[in-house]
Amino acid sequence: MADIYLYNTLGRKKELFVPLDPPHVGMYSCGPTVYDYAHIGHMRRYVGDDVLKRLLGFNSFQVKHVMNITDVGHLTSDADTGEDKIEKSAAEKGKSAFEIAKFFEEQFFASTDALNIGRPNIVCRATEHINEQIALIKKLEENGYTYITDDGIYFDTSKLKDYGRLAGGKEGIRPGARVDIAGKKHPTDFALWKFSPKDKKRQMEWDSPWGVAFPGWHIECSAMSMKYLGETFDIHSGGVDHIAVHHTNEIAQSEGATGKDPVKYWVHYEFLQVDGQKMSKSLKNTYTVDDVKKKGFDPMALRYLFLTAYYRDPLNFTWKSLEAAQSALEKLRTQVAALGKQQPRTTISQEKNEKVDEYRDKFIKSVNDDMNTATGLAVMWEMLKSNIPSEDKYDLAITFDEVLGLKLGEYTAPIVNIPQEVEKLVAKRENLRKAGDYRDADKLRIKVEEKGFIVEDTPGGSRLTPKR
Ligand SMILES: [Zn+2]
Repeated sequence: MADIYLYNTLGRKKELFVPLDPPHVGMYSCGPTVYDYAHIGHMRRYVGDDVLKRLLGFNSFQVKHVMNITDVGHLTSDADTGEDKIEKSAAEKGKSAFEIAKFFEEQFFASTDALNIGRPNIVCRATEHINEQIALIKKLEENGYTYITDDGIYFDTSKLKDYGRLAGGKEGIRPGARVDIAGKKHPTDFALWKFSPKDKKRQMEWDSPWGVAFPGWHIECSAMSMKYLGETFDIHSGGVDHIAVHHTNEIAQSEGATGKDPVKYWVHYEFLQVDGQKMSKSLKNTYTVDDVKKKGFDPMALRYLFLTAYYRDPLNFTWKSLEAAQSALEKLRTQVAALGKQQPRTTISQEKNEKVDEYRDKFIKSVNDDMNTATGLAVMWEMLKSNIPSEDKYDLAITFDEVLGLKLGEYTAPIVNIPQEVEKLVAKRENLRKAGDYRDADKLRIKVEEKGFIVEDTPGGSRLTPKR
């Protein structure tokens, strides 16, 4: 087992990864708030989680991965004011809050599946863990960390001596935080449990020892991580935007309840920008995986693009960069598929044997160094260009792919012998598509399929693969 180093936000440096109970690793990731479409910026984060899990598995650790679904309690402002995002979305779309949550959860997983992101071992919804959240708030109440206002039950952050250490001390947290709720004692205090408004009936609300109410955004993650991974666990991940408020408050809650530091390693993924700008609804640049598909791209090209950057650096997405990623991925798949067809292994020289080991070590060293997939990919290309035997190249590529997850072993090499009549049909179809006659083009697609070939549209034109 080689050493793995992870950048730990808590210590602000790369640290050697040593789990609490090896070879077991408990990992919790903040999941989506299911009120809207998950976009490619979210996907960057979940590809990161997937690489981390694969990396740990590759190094013989056994990961138990838990991810929550926020289906209640996340307000339009992180400062415990505004509307519940899911109830708001439900009202706008004329659906029930539960329908909205279910719909967008399904959309989320369809997107992660398309990027070959493995599903968590446990997916837990906030609305299905109300009792656990109430129990945790009761514990905090017993331990003297709470107070009640007209708005709800609040956590008194002044009672913890080290509150805000994840974000770099008290000055670093929640810039601009205000005491904008009547009865709130300190700017950084936050809602654990919010009373339902008296003038409005919520769809999602529950009875509790303190009256009809709904959970604050942070309590679900403390309650559910504790339930599934215990009071202390190894890795907690999320976006950099979670550091100042959400994760800071998760630590406060868990510590207030158990007296223990809940998480050993905090991993945070940087933002994805689009055309050099922050992703936002108003800029209409919150592209989804479906948008990527509609433009004729393979969603896996997006995964490849994410892998080309270090997760702690911001990454700028452009359609041009995706195009480059797609052509690199296609080249990689084609090369690996061609290698897979080589003759059985022959004995090789000592020198070449050493070279094979060298590439393997170099790759492991790269990815084990804080998930540096960019360097890992560079090693992959260098290895493919080298003079080691083809069968070793193929084996190494498939081994590296255990971490990268590009499904290199599943790709079929493009067909060399395409019957002339099929070629003609494809060309005719391409012209029809260019002319915007999608109906007739689709008829030809079916004809091509009847002849035993699948035709796919890529930015570089049509691509044919044999029907399996
Ligand atoms: Zn969370």
